Amino acid sequence: MQLTLWTYEGPPHIGAMRVATAMRGLHYVLHAPQGDTYADLLFTMIERHGARPPVTYTTFQARDLGSDTAEIFKQAVAAAYGRFRPQAMIVGASCTAELLQDDPGGLSKALGLPIPVIPLELPAYQKKENWGASETFYRLVRTLAPAAPAPERVRASCNILGPTSLGFRHRDDLREVRGLLGDLGIAVNVVAPLGATPADLGRLGQAAFNVVLYPEVARSAAQWLEKTHGQPFVETTPIGVKGTTAFIEAVAALAGIDPAPVLDGEGSRLPWYSRSVDSTYLTGKRVFVFGDATHAVAAARVAAREIGFSVVGLGTYSREFVREVRAEAATHGIEALITDDYLAVEAAIAAAQPELVLGTQMERHIAKRLGVPCAVISAPMHVQDVPARHAPQMGFEGANVLFDTFVHPLMMGLEEHLLAMFRDDPEFHDGVAPSHLGGRPREEAGTVVAAAPAIAATPVVWSIEAERELKKVPFFVRGKARHNTERFARERALPLITVETLYDAKAHFSR
Ligand code: SF4
Repeated sequence: MQLTLWTYEGPPHIGAMRVATAMRGLHYVLHAPQGDTYADLLFTMIERHGARPPVTYTTFQARDLGSDTAEIFKQAVAAAYGRFRPQAMIVGASCTAELLQDDPGGLSKALGLPIPVIPLELPAYQKKENWGASETFYRLVRTLAPAAPAPERVRASCNILGPTSLGFRHRDDLREVRGLLGDLGIAVNVVAPLGATPADLGRLGQAAFNVVLYPEVARSAAQWLEKTHGQPFVETTPIGVKGTTAFIEAVAALAGIDPAPVLDGEGSRLPWYSRSVDSTYLTGKRVFVFGDATHAVAAARVAAREIGFSVVGLGTYSREFVREVRAEAATHGIEALITDDYLAVEAAIAAAQPELVLGTQMERHIAKRLGVPCAVISAPMHVQDVPARHAPQMGFEGANVLFDTFVHPLMMGLEEHLLAMFRDDPEFHDGVAPSHLGGRPREEAGTVVAAAPAIAATPVVWSIEAERELKKVPFFVRGKARHNTERFARERALPLITVETLYDAKAHFSR
């Protein structure tokens, strides 16, 4: 047992759903109890898919357990085939159904459907979402890509492997990478799983090599294609200007193409922006990076080598990729944090005292609690990280996006600092609302909290000096500081809040 409140990854069948939802003409029958259909919302709400995922759940209930759950599964497979007529199917069990030990593979084979039906063995109690996606994609490729290599191959042709549904910026990364390959004159044979049909997977062998964009999803499949089809693969992550340059050089080498014209092109604005004098204050800023292995390693590289930050923490929840993360951490002179326990991440961030956190949605919450600026660079993400606008992480445009993403929260911090500095300015002081709101005095943030009935029960008195000292606290946390100090004073029956009480309370609550 592990007490878990937040989890970085879902169970492996969510990974399988990400592959199925990314593809066309593929259907997934999932043996799962009633309620597991929550997973649909990930796709329809977070990723805003316009259609339900191609998943049929058996949704068995407690009363079904006494009867034949295997029969329920068989009926679901037959019904799904009849209704959707897919080119191929994947079948498997969710965590609860795994305990029932019905055999999805054997049961569906017994139905004798005229399409490939691929059973998935996803151990829900040992493995997680990304592993589930990787295993599913590998099984699909292994079954559907014919083992014999295609006789004729165009040297300058490749497959792009790895983009899925619910991947962090996969949609936009793909557009950038397609653009780069197009500029180089390299033909894209198949992109998979995103947008591919089972029949497309059958054409994978026609490309000369593979481009693995997300090793967490596509490395296993690429390794199999290399072994059986003799297709080499490029795994250089095109994130950041240096990453993108290395990627271009690597694919150009495999395709026998001169990369110079593309490398001499317009490129990214990141190098100039980070060299410009306005960015001087970024140099040496302490940054803590956490995420999946690919994004964490890439973000740490960009942060340190392209923007000039100092990486004081680097970690991942991707246990399958610890080697890469450890190696990258070593180049920053630190030890990698390998964990999927967000409390351990929170403790590490608090200990490292960074000025910026680059992480997942979880780190956004942690950073908010610790009062540290933060940007999201990796899944798990929330709906705001599936934006309507083009917002890649990869390629030269991705590097532009990264510069803005990393720097923006720090600028907000600078703004807050300036607001605090000019707190006593007659025009801008905290008591005055912004001019576009008419400049009328506004209530001090947090007074509502301080005036709550339970707290107001015992009045406390502030000395003039303590009130003045309180004014030095930035306005957005002043209400909380007032509230905490009054609580501290009441609990100790102090009749008067002095400057000393204020600092004692601060020390007490920051322990
Ligand atoms: S981001 Fe949303 S779902 Fe995630 S913990 Fe916060 S409120 Fe909950």
